[in-house]
Amino acid sequence: MKEIVLSGVKQNNLKNITVKIPLGSFTVICGPSGSGKSSLAFETLYAEGQRRYIESLSTYARQFLNKAPKPDVEFIKNIPPAIAIEQKNHVKNSRSTVGTTTEVVDYLRLLFEKVGTPLCPNGHGEIKKESASLGASDVLKDFLSARAYILFPVYEKYRVLEGKKLLAQILKEGFIRIIKASSQDIIELNTKSKIPAGDFFVVIDRLVLEDASRGRLVEALSNAYLMTLKFNQGLGGGHAFIKTVEGKERRLTEENSCSVCDYSLPEINSRLFSFSSPYGACPTCSGFGNILKIDEAKVVPNPKLSIEEYCVDTFRMPSTRRKNRSLIELARKNKISTTTPWENLKPKEKKLLWAEVLDFFEMLEEKKYKMHVRIFLARYKSPFTCYVAMELACVQRPSKFL
Ligand SMILES: [Zn+2]
Ligand SMILES: [Zn+2]
Repeated sequence: MKEIVLSGVKQNNLKNITVKIPLGSFTVICGPSGSGKSSLAFETLYAEGQRRYIESLSTYARQFLNKAPKPDVEFIKNIPPAIAIEQKNHVKNSRSTVGTTTEVVDYLRLLFEKVGTPLCPNGHGEIKKESASLGASDVLKDFLSARAYILFPVYEKYRVLEGKKLLAQILKEGFIRIIKASSQDIIELNTKSKIPAGDFFVVIDRLVLEDASRGRLVEALSNAYLMTLKFNQGLGGGHAFIKTVEGKERRLTEENSCSVCDYSLPEINSRLFSFSSPYGACPTCSGFGNILKIDEAKVVPNPKLSIEEYCVDTFRMPSTRRKNRSLIELARKNKISTTTPWENLKPKEKKLLWAEVLDFFEMLEEKKYKMHVRIFLARYKSPFTCYVAMELACVQRPSKFL
């Protein structure tokens, strides 16, 4: 394994020592006060790691950073960029993590904002915002030599004008052909035409997709984006459709949305990567990473008891005993033994009874505005890891890593 080698360290009162520190493991430097622990850890190891990291940055970036003094050392090998956490009491709250305490998380947020790739959570790949020029390159790559229509959409839901006014506007812009989305019928327009109900596309151009027609394609696409916004309201950006005569279709958009399923994302910014900002936090646990849930181990503290012996501890109190009676009734109705210890019930039987117990707690949740109910509920709850954000993260991972 690689190790950091510090040779001939003479920083402060260190007496020309040589130290090897393994990378990727936990190393403790200990010794009596004044023996030079800080000189080695902070003033040599950290100082050099920081210094070399800053040197790797551009001259422009360097002018904003304090240049750390070079430590008094013969040579240092294999040193990665370093961070130092000082020995002090940080303000701790339930959202603190190693990342927030070291501020590493702030740098990661910036990194993700600048170089992150948004992926469709439904597995359709990258969510791209395509400029007309980028879109043209993509279309030429995928549909080279195809004969195709360049279209812009008029959505039923978003259209600005209806009927005769819509027809007049289309003609006024100089377009004479539309394609119905439902039937794919091409309709030639004249002043007496009827505008169809439902979504339809307006033909902007018809051309052969090849490098020689690139300029014309870019122009048609940017015109499509422009027209989409003129004829529809409430969209976040223009759309353009490419339809080849063989029937292949492609949608381009200026919006941050998936071209297959339309899943859209807000503009990527660093707030989205902050679990303490409402924009970036997991909606289920608000970024705390766990959620308080009714814990079976607390509700059934002794699983050796049966239902009749009040294995559900909560139902032992005079005020809740009738709940235990209804639990027994439910068990009998489903031919579940009421004298078998809870732990020996079949998983299917437990599941059915547990659902009934949870119903009781859910009913109480509605009375949470009462202080004693809140205290009562808290007694039976434990924090459980929230998997919502993790599941999202999994689907957003590119498929090649799955
Ligand atoms: Zn999608
Ligand atoms: Zn969560």
